[in-house]
Amino acid sequence: MSDYDATYQLLCEKAKEASMLATIQELLEWDERTKMPPAGSAYRADQAAYLAGLIHQKQTAPVIGDWLEQLGESPLASDPHSDTGTVIRQLRRDYDKKTKLPQSLVEELTRTAVAGQQVWADARRDNDFTSFQPLLEKTVDLKRQEAAALGFDTTPYDPLLDDYEPGESTANVTRVLRDLRDALIPLVQAIAGSSQRPDVSIISRKYPIAAQKQFGAQVVAAIGFDLRAGRIDETDHPFMVGLGPGDVRLTTRYDEHDFCDGLFSTLHEAGHGIYDQGLPREYFGLPTGEDVSMAIHESQSRMWENQVGRSLSFWEHFYPQAQSAFADPLGDVDLRAFYGAINDVRPSLIRVDADEVTYNLHILIRFELEQALLEDRLQVADLPAAWNEKYQAFLGIEPTNDADGVLQDVHWSAGLFGYFPTYALGNLYSAQFFAQAARDLGDLDAQFCQGEFSLLREWLRKHIHAQGRRYTPAELAERVTGSPLSHQPLMDHLGQKYGELYAL
Ligand code: ZN
Repeated sequence: MSDYDATYQLLCEKAKEASMLATIQELLEWDERTKMPPAGSAYRADQAAYLAGLIHQKQTAPVIGDWLEQLGESPLASDPHSDTGTVIRQLRRDYDKKTKLPQSLVEELTRTAVAGQQVWADARRDNDFTSFQPLLEKTVDLKRQEAAALGFDTTPYDPLLDDYEPGESTANVTRVLRDLRDALIPLVQAIAGSSQRPDVSIISRKYPIAAQKQFGAQVVAAIGFDLRAGRIDETDHPFMVGLGPGDVRLTTRYDEHDFCDGLFSTLHEAGHGIYDQGLPREYFGLPTGEDVSMAIHESQSRMWENQVGRSLSFWEHFYPQAQSAFADPLGDVDLRAFYGAINDVRPSLIRVDADEVTYNLHILIRFELEQALLEDRLQVADLPAAWNEKYQAFLGIEPTNDADGVLQDVHWSAGLFGYFPTYALGNLYSAQFFAQAARDLGDLDAQFCQGEFSLLREWLRKHIHAQGRRYTPAELAERVTGSPLSHQPLMDHLGQKYGELYAL
């Protein structure tokens, strides 16, 4: 073994140790959001802050800098996309970002984020923005400090976005999302003007929760989420977390009078879970075994939720099973009526309930507002009014209370600034990958009708999951599809599907 090989082994061991601590921190977070009693939140914040500090210490140990220095010049790093080249390059990137942040700031950010969850949940329950305002002001201030420590040329938004989308810029995202907005608004208006309206009352009939749980598990198992290596639990704000090879947790929620909320949340999180289950196990804890970015992660969840889960062919296979699981509410409903109802498009107030056409407008609103907060063009105190104004301008409706408005999302309370645009980028990548999969795999609809989902899943595994963090999101999209990120594949998908549904 050369000196380089020995140093590389040491580097990998350190990285895996930090990852192990990170998964322990994530297990605490999973517990906090699924099981923990509210009174446990103060001590949990201390636990999380302690672990965050410890992880930061591990990741920024000066010896790692020395090793990275040596290895950067070695043959192991000469091909940047080889296994060793990827590990060295990505750990270098992570190390450079982390060493720019003082540990005290990291701990303060974590403590504020954890405490913020409870403050936000209480404020939302009580519809009381003013009780949330001081915490949000503090969070914005801390995120500005973080951006300043990381450094930026044009906007503090850039280094925060880069945390979720490595290599991406605010300017590029703004350009792509504007293209999307300009194409989307006429489609939303055309749908609103259509005389075709589905009967959405089907969806709010009574769907017993026990049957919903069973049906959801049946569907995610059928598309290939491995329940022997995963679980489904309940939470207020669904998420997925990969806690180790063989332990991928989905969370969801159920409403007895909403068929779509539970099922599509479960499918969405299962799409995230299938990505994590498809990461190379042998590299767990190293960049070669990690996901590329939030948007690429979201492209996987949105594909199973929307491109697959809201397609007619998917339901040609699953609808008979749904009718037998929910004989009362669905026994007298034919497939086309059901398909129309689960694809109802109309402007609404709540992002997570939004249809796949208007969804991206919800994201654009948040993207613009959080940029303005960070750039000090908007004060937290003025946020609820700015929120309502944008809803009026983009969607033509306005919330009558903050619980259904500015308080609806957990993200800002958790310090997740720069995260929202990844949802819209995820939708764009999703459509782009799906169009390529259809070119490579032939008639996907014919496969879905037969309950055949493994060809698509294995295609995703090979081209996306198995790649780990070998490429940036933009590079990966270009390699897999031959084109840079664009709004066009999503608009093609939406135009075709909804053109047919709404007779446009
Ligand atoms: Zn998601």
